[in-house]
Amino acid sequence: MEHVDPNALKRTDFRNGRPCEFCQQLDSNFGQRKPMDQIVSANRKQTASAHLTEDGYVRHRWLELSKLVAANPRSAA
Ligand SMILES: [Zn+2]
Repeated sequence: MEHVDPNALKRTDFRNGRPCEFCQQLDSNFGQRKPMDQIVSANRKQTASAHLTEDGYVRHRWLELSKLVAANPRSAA
């Protein structure tokens, strides 16, 4: 798995992170995630790859895809 930048993990610890606003808005289960899965690097854009954990990344991507499918239901395979 190379989409999680290992340097981001080293650079950023929990104190430097912040909750992902994108996930916060779209994920109704956001509050039930583990704290580390809610956090993105403070110095990066709130993208999936800014997430500090694999699980956070996957959930962010899932939300993005769900949004796309909702916007374009006919193009969904
Ligand atoms: Zn997110």
